[in-house]
Parts: sequence; C-alpha cells; structure tokens
Amino acid sequence: MSQNIVVIGGGPAGIEASRRLRDLGYTPILIEKEPFLGGHLARWDRLFPDGVEARTFLEPMLADLEGIKYFTDTEVSSINRLKDTWVVKLSNGLSAQVRAILLTTGFDLFKAEKKEEYGYGIYDRVITNADLEAWFKSGAAPQFDDVKTIGFVHCVGSRDEKAGNRQCSKVCCVTAVKQACEIKERFPEANVYCFYMDLRMFGRKYEDLYLKAQKEHGIRFVRGRVSEVSEDLDGHLFVKAEDTLFGKPMKIKLDMLVLMAGMAPAAGTQALARMVNIQTGDDGFFLPKSLIVSPFTSSREGVFFAGAATGPKTIPETLSEASAAALSIDRYLKTPVKS
Ligand SMILES: Cc1cc2nc3c(=O)[nH]c(=O)nc-3n(C[C@H](O)[C@H](O)[C@H](O)COP(=O)(O)OP(=O)(O)OC[C@H]3O[C@@H](n4cnc5c(N)ncnc54)[C@H](O)[C@@H]3O)c2cc1C
Ligand code: SF4
Repeated sequence: MSQNIVVIGGGPAGIEASRRLRDLGYTPILIEKEPFLGGHLARWDRLFPDGVEARTFLEPMLADLEGIKYFTDTEVSSINRLKDTWVVKLSNGLSAQVRAILLTTGFDLFKAEKKEEYGYGIYDRVITNADLEAWFKSGAAPQFDDVKTIGFVHCVGSRDEKAGNRQCSKVCCVTAVKQACEIKERFPEANVYCFYMDLRMFGRKYEDLYLKAQKEHGIRFVRGRVSEVSEDLDGHLFVKAEDTLFGKPMKIKLDMLVLMAGMAPAAGTQALARMVNIQTGDDGFFLPKSLIVSPFTSSREGVFFAGAATGPKTIPETLSEASAAALSIDRYLKTPVKS
C-alpha cells in the first residue's frame, strides 16, 4: 500500500503519468474533481499546429487505464505527513497512505468577464476561445446567422498587470491563428481580424500556420489593443482599437468577437499547496524546486508536479513532463528511506 502513489488531477498530465507509473509496476490512484477524465483536452475540438482531432489522442489514453484506480467527482479533503508517508483523505470517504503525491491539477481558463471593457457575459456576440472550441466540437450550426466579420482579441487576462497576471499564456497566439483559419474554412467570405500585442508563434510549424492564415485566408493581423466594445440596437458589436503600426485609431462593426482567455492557476492550487506545505509563485502556479533542472520536483519530499499545474504548457510539453515525473517518482521510491 505504501508503494502507491496518489495523482491529483485527471487531465492529460495525470492520465499520462498514471499510465507510466502503472507500466513501471505501481498502482497509482488518480483523483479527478470533474465527472470525467481528460481535463481541457476533453473540451478541445482540433489541436494546433496541424488540426488533428483532440479525441484521437484522448480516446486511446482513456482506453488504457487498466491497473490504475481512478475516482471522478472526487477531491482531496486533507493531506497529512506520517513519518515518511502522506495520508491522503478523499471526499468519497476513502483514504490512502502513500510515499509520493503527484500534483497534476492543470489550469483554469482566465475568467473573461473580469475584463469588463470586452463585454463578455454582457453581449451575446462576445465569446471566448473555449466557447468557440465547444461550438466547433458540437458540430452545431452557427449560433448567429450572420458571421461575416469576426475579431479575435489576444492576451485576455495575460501580460496584463491590471488583470493580476503579467505572464504570457504561451498557447493563445497559436490557438487564435488556428481558430481564425477554422472560421475561414467554415465561412470563406468572412473578414477576420486578429488584434495582437506581439505574436508569439514559438513552436515547430506554428510559423507555417501563421503564413497560411495570411496568404491562404487573408486574415488581417492588427497590432494594437482593443480599448472598448459596445453593442448596437440589433446586437452587433462596435469595437474601438488602435493600429499601433500605422498609428491610426480604428472603429469596426463585428458580428462576433472571440476573446483569447489565458491560463490561470486551477482553483484548488492554494489549498493543496497549504496541505502539503509547498510554495506557489507570484503567478499563483505551483513553484518547482528549479525551473531548469527539476521542473517536476517540489521543495517537499515525495511531492511532484507535471503539466500546466506549474504554468502554461502545450500538450506535448505536458506529456513529456508527465513521463519525466513518473521516472523521478520511480527513482525516489527506489531510494531507501533514511532511518
Ligand atoms: C483555448 C485553449 C486551446 C488549447 N489548444 C491546445 C492545442 O491545440 N494543442 C496543445 O498542445 N495545447 C493546447 N492547449 C493547452 C492544453 O490544454 C494544456 O497543455 C493541457 O490541457 C494541460 O494538461 P494538464 O493535465 O496539465 O491540465 P488540465 O488539462 O487543466 O487538466 C487538469 C485536470 O485536473 C483536474 N483538477 C484540478 N484541480 C483539481 C483538484 N483539486 N482535485 C482533483 N482534480 C483537479 C481538472 O478538473 C482537470 O481535469 C490549449 C489551451 C487553451 C487554453
Ligand atoms: S501567447 Fe500570445 S495571446 Fe497568449 S498571452 Fe502570449 S502573447 Fe498574448
């Protein structure tokens, strides 16, 4: 029993790490607060950079959970240190005594309604990147019958001191470009604008996607912040922005505005940090021992991390961290306990 490991958070990081630990001969216990496993991957339709369907990754992962005990709709009620073990009590009444805990609680989408000037939750035609994914994934007909001019606003709740987050969320530039291309594939006649501060297309093939957006789809990239959004009598949107490259103010009428909400720490991060007595950074994400050499090791013995619980990450980065964390836990568990 004490060789078991509790993995908290059943997104891509938690599932992948649990599978690796199972392959190494352990019996991980995976805890997920939602009624389903898969985390945010279960909510996305197609993935950047090449548009593969998210389900083609998730379904094989979910079909390979033999040997892993998992509980959905379950949270951790308390964690206490007992000699060289952790006693983890769950909201379903069960408890486990383990030597290692892996925190894979991921991220929450920034609450776009906090940026009142964009009108999310006030104007129907203002939606988020996650709403657009849900719409694509549902395969439903367009929610508005006139999607002719669409805007995307980058950096919503990221790189923004006023919103309490000066960090970049890393995945939203490429997500905006991917979603803008998908809009053009569905509505070839549409005029699409991306309002950005600067474009961070850091990954392999991301630049190709950006070129495709400009050359094949004619998407217009406007360098400048949107300052105000208002609604006219028939429900359409008026957006004020400034094109900082040309030094010109802009006012355009839009049928839909998509806010690229960034990645914020998961709601339970602080509570879990207190339970195991570890630190979070000033961005609110868990703080590893070293961001360079041990991004999956905490300052507390037997407590590890993987995935977006320590900050914005792509899915490939998340999966490799999950494998690396599983190997670190294996090494830790094979180290004799100091008496
Ligand atoms: C709009 C958008 C689109 C994206 N598209 C892509 C893409 O196309 N390609 C790509 O590579 N990346 C993409 N990403 C990034 C991708 O979503 C993340 O890399 C990935 O989800 C991180 O996985 P994770 O397991 O670390 O976290 P999550 O996916 O957030 O999973 C964490 C899980 O932990 C659970 N949890 C949280 N707290 C607790 C708790 N206290 N107790 C129990 N369970 C808990 C959550 O419910 C969740 O199931 C996108 C991100 C955004 C915002
Ligand atoms: S990835 Fe792009 S949109 Fe997201 S916070 Fe960074 S610069 Fe802004």
